[in-house]
Amino acid sequence: MQLYQLIYKSTATRPFSEHELSQLLKCCQYNNAQVNVTGVLLYDGTHFLQVLEGRFSVLNKLIGKIESDQRHASIVTLIKEPIVKREYVNWSMELIKKKGFALTKIEHTFEEMHERINGQRQQLEIETRSMLIANAFRDGDWSGSDGLTESVIPFEGGRYLHQRLAPTFEVEQKFAFQPIIDVMQREVIWVEALIRGPDGESPMSIFDGLDDSSLHKLDAQSKLDALKAFRQFDTDSGLSLNLLPGTLLEYPDVVEELAQLADEFKIERSNIIIELTEQEAIENLEHISKIANEIKAHGFLLAIDDFGSGYAGLSILVELQPHIIKIDRGIVHGASQSGPREAIIDSIIYCAKRLGISIIAEGVETKEDLNWLFAAGIKRFQGFLLAKPAFMALPSIQGPKKW
Ligand code: C2E
Ligand code: MN
Ligand code: MN
Repeated sequence: MQLYQLIYKSTATRPFSEHELSQLLKCCQYNNAQVNVTGVLLYDGTHFLQVLEGRFSVLNKLIGKIESDQRHASIVTLIKEPIVKREYVNWSMELIKKKGFALTKIEHTFEEMHERINGQRQQLEIETRSMLIANAFRDGDWSGSDGLTESVIPFEGGRYLHQRLAPTFEVEQKFAFQPIIDVMQREVIWVEALIRGPDGESPMSIFDGLDDSSLHKLDAQSKLDALKAFRQFDTDSGLSLNLLPGTLLEYPDVVEELAQLADEFKIERSNIIIELTEQEAIENLEHISKIANEIKAHGFLLAIDDFGSGYAGLSILVELQPHIIKIDRGIVHGASQSGPREAIIDSIIYCAKRLGISIIAEGVETKEDLNWLFAAGIKRFQGFLLAKPAFMALPSIQGPKKW
């Protein structure tokens, strides 16, 4: 039967005294011994970190119970993986603490604990993963961005009225529009134009039938239509446009044309974002960095779309120096419950901050993720939770008045 190790962290819903913790532990020890689960529990005054080892199905059942335990909240799985042997061999759960020290801080190293558990140091030439994670926990690296209580987000929905374009307004290419919201400014800061077929068909269905050169032509020409449609709305928001790098290579003039049209419409160029997808951009990095400079030289903002979805990742920040990155919804979705997502997002934020890049989280679908992302330091969001794209219209912001 395959053994698994599961590591999660959680936030204590209240402080625990030493006495309470030892009671808690006794209970864990008994229950875990019954189902042959071993492990260790760490508490730093505000958070728990628990390592559990046992059979997969048993651990799953156990985590279900743990999730409904009122004593802690914001449970985030850091690791769940098969292991060859137990690390906490004879432990049916132990609480790690420094002897005689009030349980407010874990002061010792996890290596020392390991040594105590297994008795000899020579077995421990390479740190195990649980040791590394426990050390990061001890150093406070996992306590930066807890789930927030609902009321902390200072944004109230429902302020923006749905605006449909007049039926008489004609452009060749149709678009849907989706707001990007800044929760601190309480504003729709930009609106993204998403290409649509005549009856609202998806971009995929439009692009699929086209060869590269017609695709690029459509992509370039349609952006002027997006700008024309956007201009009809009564809004102070900026506009965000998607362009394929291939389009910019084949039709480099599109940047200049957009700039002229924006000037004619008296829309500030600095209120217009040009989004390039990470995946596409990297395939042609040298050319694309020239184009990136073109975009900047015209006064537009440059964004990397779907950041984190491709393989380029951080090198794109070196090469393109975008103003904005839009974190891919593959990473954003479920951020509040996943240790790997949490760690990746934290490091993107850290890196972006140092480089003066602002962040948009896209694909936000749940309140939990929104709260978590906000607590982590992200202020700008796009997603179904806030507003779904509306066909030839500017949608109002959804969601409860109070978050
Ligand atoms: P994108 O630029 O990343 O646009 C966001 C996509 O995610 C949109 O799909 C939007 O409807 C969807 N979305 C937004 N919030 C959520 C959410 O909370 N959950 C989920 N599951 N999805 C969400 P859409 O409109 O189907 O567009 C797909 C892609 O097509 C776009 O992804 C973009 O890469 C491309 N695209 C759209 N318009 C254009 C265009 O004019 N030119 C080019 N080159 N590409 C375009
Ligand atoms: Mn986009
Ligand atoms: Mn995207």
